[in-house]
Amino acid sequence: MGVSAPIHPGRSTRAAPTIAQVEPITTARALRGPFDYRLGEELRDEVEIGSMLVVPFGRRQMLGVVIGLGEDSEVPPERLLEPVRALELGVPAELIRLAEWIAAEYCSTFARALGLVLPPGAARRLSGRRRRAVAAPRHTSVGVPSPRPPALSDDQQAVLAPLLEALAGDDARQVLLHGVTGSGKTEIYLRAAAAALERGRGAIVLVPEIALTPQIVSRFIERFGETVAVLHSRLTAGQRYEQWRRLREGEARVCVGPRSAVFAPISGLGLIVLDEEHDSSYKHEGDPRYDAREVAAERASRSGALLLAGSATPRPESSQRMPRLELPRRVDGRPLPPVSVLDMRGSRSGLHPATAAALAKVRDDGGKAIVLLNRRGWSNFLSCRSCGRVWSCPECDVALVLHRAGGYLACHHCGHRESTPSSCPDCDSASVARHGAGTERLAHDLAGVLDDGEFPVFRLDADVLGRGASAQPGALLAEFQAARSGALIGTQMVAKGHDFPDVSLGVVLDADATLRFPDFRAEERTFALIAQLAGRAGRGGDGRVLVQTIAPEARPIRYAARHDSTGFLAEELQRRRALGYPPFGHLIRIVLGAEQASAARRAAEELRERLTVALPRAAAGPPPGLDAGPEEAATRLLGPAALFRLRGRERQVLVVKTRHRREAVAATGEAVTAVAAGRRHSGVTFSVDVDPQ
Ligand code: ADP
Ligand code: ZN
Ligand code: ZN
Repeated sequence: MGVSAPIHPGRSTRAAPTIAQVEPITTARALRGPFDYRLGEELRDEVEIGSMLVVPFGRRQMLGVVIGLGEDSEVPPERLLEPVRALELGVPAELIRLAEWIAAEYCSTFARALGLVLPPGAARRLSGRRRRAVAAPRHTSVGVPSPRPPALSDDQQAVLAPLLEALAGDDARQVLLHGVTGSGKTEIYLRAAAAALERGRGAIVLVPEIALTPQIVSRFIERFGETVAVLHSRLTAGQRYEQWRRLREGEARVCVGPRSAVFAPISGLGLIVLDEEHDSSYKHEGDPRYDAREVAAERASRSGALLLAGSATPRPESSQRMPRLELPRRVDGRPLPPVSVLDMRGSRSGLHPATAAALAKVRDDGGKAIVLLNRRGWSNFLSCRSCGRVWSCPECDVALVLHRAGGYLACHHCGHRESTPSSCPDCDSASVARHGAGTERLAHDLAGVLDDGEFPVFRLDADVLGRGASAQPGALLAEFQAARSGALIGTQMVAKGHDFPDVSLGVVLDADATLRFPDFRAEERTFALIAQLAGRAGRGGDGRVLVQTIAPEARPIRYAARHDSTGFLAEELQRRRALGYPPFGHLIRIVLGAEQASAARRAAEELRERLTVALPRAAAGPPPGLDAGPEEAATRLLGPAALFRLRGRERQVLVVKTRHRREAVAATGEAVTAVAAGRRHSGVTFSVDVDPQ
């Protein structure tokens, strides 16, 4: 880590600081700050932690952020330089400290964590802006409430009361809002945000993916107007900075956005909402591999804000540690739709006769249906009928997926593409078999059966979205909403929080597909996916849900069919406790990659040896499934084990399972750094993931 001096606890009432510790903002990782600069008279009163300074560095000028202030420096006075100037707007000090926490919590560096909290495009913003005193954020008054909020239901009122109480105080609080699909959680978020604003405080509203959840964004804008800033991936760099600036200067006091919005520069934060808190998009997959839900909890606790996490299918982690408020009924009083589980064992067709009949009935009645198949493409894999060759990725050990309309085979792990073969390169046979079906084929087949000109079939998956502006999810969802009848076919994207009152049928195909992943969260994911899709149906009238599976007895499927998330959570928590999985333990996953399997293996073995010594009360153990329980050892080290080859790299994985998170993260970081520094392992890459998903 780049911090050599302790961070000054804030502006003191003593003499203004003379030394600023500046972390350079650069993509050159070799440059490790902080570096000391002397503050001249006129900068002294103005610079604070988080200020952005243009500083001389060698013969160049660089942009840096102040991470500490003090009176002394180890640099001899004659060598201390002064900053050239300060930028108009800096980062709130609170976020600099949050970045420091993230670096330690997720085994990253301070410099990388800082990258998360800086103004968008900071590295390119070196010149041009004139220096001005850093103004304290102005707090605009709340105005322009356009439509009248609906009268709350009794359930909503009962839930809101304790939230308002929590918002009236300055104590940090956490609440899990466990509300069934269609129970009106968004209205609760809106009321809570209004209460925060009335107290002169700001609010952050985190949503899974803005493009897929346009409804919640428009409800916030409708209700709060100009005081809402929306951060989403389709903004240009300039627009993004403008939103950041509006928040930083207090023009906007509510920020709605995906996981990175947890870093919104709002001062006086009163509320953080985590909508659909079970959604896996809250985990960031780049370094630092932070989980926005954990960061939100930490930020809320530091700011004395309320953390309000909402879901119909909460995670075991949240349900274990957060007090819970319930919305057990839908707003309109309608029951949740009945779910039928259709046993597909022995079936050779993709659609159960009951599913085909139900879809035809929706078409004949002029209704709407949503069909979920969590697999894109036309066929899962191709094989040669005469020699058995399977088309697989040259870079990864996985089968290639056929995309028929595009005319190519694609690897869904690395993006490799090749054109669709007309014959087998090994034996020249022209007979190539296509196995399985993805959303492309399903939508095609269903359109063939159902689309009579009155019943359009829409498809929503990452491939459709890849086709550019014409197929934005918002536009597609709006088209489906506007259509008088039709079907929406797609991957998990169709199960997000959409609120279409006229969908009467929900269908899940191959519901156990997610269960087959070797992951302790497979059951939780399967349950959430089915329950969420089921939640899209019957919002404005009668509804029903069909679930096709070859594992009708599987626990998550049984519970989802009964809409019993409380029962599922209780059993899942028991299982996690027995196995020492989160929330009863923490996981750290270390993946090593190399061109040669032997090189990855050697490095992994050395890392294992080091970790065995370094980890707090480390104990080697059997693989996760065989673990006898957390009582046995507070920290266990599993692996190394081989993972499938990815992007041309052979991989090994080690997993630390621990009840001493901080110590284990620190020990892992040191061990990895030590092994990576060795010249023996120069071609090996290391990636550390705390709380892997
Ligand atoms: P959830 O997020 O819990 O699935 P939503 O927030 O999408 O549910 O609400 C479902 C529907 O109920 C929305 O159309 C919303 O506008 C409506 N709604 C919410 N609260 C009320 C209320 N108090 N009175 C009338 N309609 C409401
Ligand atoms: Zn062949
Ligand atoms: Zn690949």
